[in-house]
Amino acid sequence: AKSSQRGSIRFYSHDLTEKALERLELRNSIQSGIRNKQFCVFFQPKINLKTNALEGAEALVRWHHPTRGLVFPDAFIPVAEELGLINEIDMLVLDEVCRCVKVWQSHLAPGSRFAVNLSAMQFTREDLVSTIEGIVQKHQCGTKFLEFEITEGVLMVHCERLTNKIKALKELGFTFALDDFGTGYSSLSYLSRYPIDVLKIDRSFVMDMLESQSSQVLVKTIVAMAQNLAMKVVAEGVEEPAQAALLKQYDVDIAQGYLFSRPISIEAFASMYCLPVPP
Ligand code: C2E
Ligand code: CA
Ligand code: CA
Ligand code: CA
Repeated sequence: AKSSQRGSIRFYSHDLTEKALERLELRNSIQSGIRNKQFCVFFQPKINLKTNALEGAEALVRWHHPTRGLVFPDAFIPVAEELGLINEIDMLVLDEVCRCVKVWQSHLAPGSRFAVNLSAMQFTREDLVSTIEGIVQKHQCGTKFLEFEITEGVLMVHCERLTNKIKALKELGFTFALDDFGTGYSSLSYLSRYPIDVLKIDRSFVMDMLESQSSQVLVKTIVAMAQNLAMKVVAEGVEEPAQAALLKQYDVDIAQGYLFSRPISIEAFASMYCLPVPP
């Protein structure tokens, strides 16, 4: 029994070493990826369901890995968060978005917003607001076209510093969208406590909507609540025309999903919407 126990311990520690090595390798490759500009931004358009016009886009990060090819965020965002590298990635995405918006702003419909995902970790940094201000100033781009997406998890920990950061960024001209809405913790109290501008209905509800009565009720309830709180609603994960039609019937303002476009490169996005390609 003793030897098998020892054996299992040895196996366990071997496993740990391998995991630790893997993480070390990933840390090094993410860091060198940042240095070598391997991370890039894809845009997924947001479409006004009433006018079919472009209402901006969500910026989604991609990693052009030298050997693994195009890597999607689910494969590296959680690790980047664990290793404290997400701050740099998010700011690099914001930098790219500002560079584009600077070139596109004179062509955009008023009210359009280009959204950047902000990891919960961002709100633990003291230099968050000054860093963002620096990036916006560097590009001289209009913040009225910029938005941040945060998840309910960020708002769960109520503290004055969080409120102050959100307020400071709103004063700079940013709006805030609550991402994956409806999947997190009971969120109603956060909605009145924080100055949120947009609710993004999670794609799980949109996906179930055509078959599930309860998802329909949920979507309708979110819309009614948003209207009462003077918030906009974005539905994500719209894949079928029937879903778009139902959302429009429910008075949802904006939709995003494969029905309109997958996330695409900056160049492809510019060409799709007749926008100049940023230099
Ligand atoms: P998210 O913020 O909820 O982003 C939406 C995800 O849904 C994207 O996956 C998008 O490609 C996908 N999607 C859009 N339309 C459809 C659709 O019609 N059907 C289906 N099945 N999926 C659709 P992606 O790009 O792989 O990103 C995954 C997650 O990674 C994002 O979820 C977000 O949480 C995170 N992420 C992406 N970029 C960044 C970033 O720059 N910073 C941070 N902190 N997180 C990011
Ligand atoms: Ca998002
Ligand atoms: Ca989302
Ligand atoms: Ca998500």
